[in-house]
Amino acid sequence: PVRTRFAPSPTGYLHLGGARTALYSWAFARHFGGTFVLRIEDTDLERSTPEAVQAIIEGMAWLGLNHDEGPFYQMQRMDRYREVVGQMLEAGTAYHCYSSPEEVQAMRDRATAAGQKPRYDGTWRPEPGKTLPAIPEGRKPVVRFKNPLDGEVTWNDFVKGTITIGNKELDDLVIARTDGTPTYNFCVAIDDLDMEISHVLRGDDHVNNTPRQINILRAIGAPLPEYGHLPMILGSDGAKMSKRKDAVNVMQYPAEGYLPEAILNYLARLGWSHGDEEVFSMEQVCGWFDGSHLSNSAAQFNIEKLNWLNNHYIKQADNERLAELAKPRMLANGAVLEGAPSLAVVLGLLKERTNTVNELADAAMLFYREPQPDAALLTQHVTDAIKPALADFAERCKTVEWNKAAIAAMIKEVLAAHGLKMPQIAMPLRLFITGQLQTPAIDAVLEIFGRDAVVARLAKFI
Ligand code: GLU
Repeated sequence: PVRTRFAPSPTGYLHLGGARTALYSWAFARHFGGTFVLRIEDTDLERSTPEAVQAIIEGMAWLGLNHDEGPFYQMQRMDRYREVVGQMLEAGTAYHCYSSPEEVQAMRDRATAAGQKPRYDGTWRPEPGKTLPAIPEGRKPVVRFKNPLDGEVTWNDFVKGTITIGNKELDDLVIARTDGTPTYNFCVAIDDLDMEISHVLRGDDHVNNTPRQINILRAIGAPLPEYGHLPMILGSDGAKMSKRKDAVNVMQYPAEGYLPEAILNYLARLGWSHGDEEVFSMEQVCGWFDGSHLSNSAAQFNIEKLNWLNNHYIKQADNERLAELAKPRMLANGAVLEGAPSLAVVLGLLKERTNTVNELADAAMLFYREPQPDAALLTQHVTDAIKPALADFAERCKTVEWNKAAIAAMIKEVLAAHGLKMPQIAMPLRLFITGQLQTPAIDAVLEIFGRDAVVARLAKFI
């Protein structure tokens, strides 16, 4: 059975790259009717925080990337790691190493001086017929993995193709420190084994860890998962992504008015493709995501494309849902929603051209605050020549049938009766009703405001 995992280190927020890894692992599991596991890699006590765990879980929940198992915490699995270290010592696939940190450093320096890769020189590695040094008094050992000396590690990476690393390149990795705590690559290998992970999808910053993890799994006779390493996401300037230039934290996106389906669609397409399709639902992604068509080159973040997708999903979104999303921002900006036009209706009128819910919320404000037209604009647009027409219009508002078509027809009658052109009456009306000159079509604005509000607002000026 297919089992994938997302294994973040809780050292900060959920970033875009992590979210994409999670999305791909999730979609892959969904495609095959498999299981998606969440594992929190919290063994770095200095840098891991409960807030970061919360932030990651919150980010995944916002995106709807639900896990089937977990979260599992590595810190709760210490006994299990110790158990395997013990078994490996017993089986001779790991050994105690009593070299001090200074000695190891000296070995590495010697290797470097000889033009080789810095490495542990195998002093404590047991070999048939070899006599090990005497154990220095009072010194606590680390446990090292007995990495094969010859041969190579090869795997068929389903993103990068075949990768081969010679065992000569690999050190005898420390798997447990002097205090007995296990180290990173060892924990990952044991977790993937115990959680029966069949496919590991992760960032390609982990490519160098993979041969080490494979060797550990082989040494304990475990089956190997398949691996796929995703190239990183570059910032909009083509360099490494940084929060200075782009929004890297996934939870910044809801704050800025992006919909989760836009982010998901964007991330799905950023490193994966299905023909020429640009817009797809998560149902479609899960239907198509079989591990093929993953791109092997770094993808560049492009906010215009994300905005285009967000606009697309805003246009598709239910207006009541948009209203719920827009409301907090509008209230914070002083909107009065009671006794005012339905927010859902207003957002439906305005949403065609907005990239984010925040833009939409700001555009809608004109319906929910007292108009305070600029005095100079009033002088400019409300001339004596137009005042009689405005009074006529205000009077007719009291009786005209209140729908867009009837209002439009009535405006035409007023224009004809007074010999005026559309802007001459539309501009003052916009100022009276909304306080600004930029609004959607005046007949639509009037209809949505409602007769009472329009009559009341006109009465203040006419
Ligand atoms: N904890 C690692 C990270 O956050 C991921 C490890 C893995 O996927 O194997 O980068």
